[in-house]
Amino acid sequence: MSETAQHAPADWLDVLPCCVGEILIRRTEAGEFSLCHREDAEMESLRIEREAEAAAELARYDDSGRYRPLKTAPNLQHGWTLLLGRAEDARLALAYFYPGRAAAYQAWKKETLRITALRQTLARQTGMYRVAAGISDEEADALVGNFCKSDGGCLRTILWRRDAAGAVPSTLLPRVKFDPGFDQTGRGEAALPLLCQEACNLLVAEARKVVKTSE
Ligand code: SF4
Repeated sequence: MSETAQHAPADWLDVLPCCVGEILIRRTEAGEFSLCHREDAEMESLRIEREAEAAAELARYDDSGRYRPLKTAPNLQHGWTLLLGRAEDARLALAYFYPGRAAAYQAWKKETLRITALRQTLARQTGMYRVAAGISDEEADALVGNFCKSDGGCLRTILWRRDAAGAVPSTLLPRVKFDPGFDQTGRGEAALPLLCQEACNLLVAEARKVVKTSE
């Protein structure tokens, strides 16, 4: 087990306050779970929400009202705080914000997270996405370097490799993009990672576009 995993809590809610992605999770004096955008931590005039389901709507659009297809993109909207009495509601809200990421984190901590190389993910595509496997290594390097970058792309920490031989996903990404101990927001704070154990559907769709364009 890596040193980072060894020292990480087993669950996002184990040690509060804590930061996950762009979210700060705290306990209020009344014992409630409080979630807000990390950049809003000191704001006093936040809109208060009290239902975990409100997170689904908050996660859907960015500050300018644009739809967020990638929930781990660094464009979570500001101006809200979610106050929830029960840990299960806090977990539900976090699942709306970052679908599947708490479970991936827990599996990573237990060393049971299954990691799939990009080439393997592309090879199992069917239908219109089958052609994505035809992307060259150079094209994949450029695509991943741009699409997955934390600054403006995605806040997940990449655990997969490009191929079974262990090639780096992109030479254009800094090493810290693969380090679960690094705060991908660039704020340099202690933060728990949003992990990427295999290429997402959006990256596969982009790979298909690259191949189609170069045909
Ligand atoms: S492949 Fe992973 S790191 Fe890249 S955009 Fe998709 S979820 Fe983010």
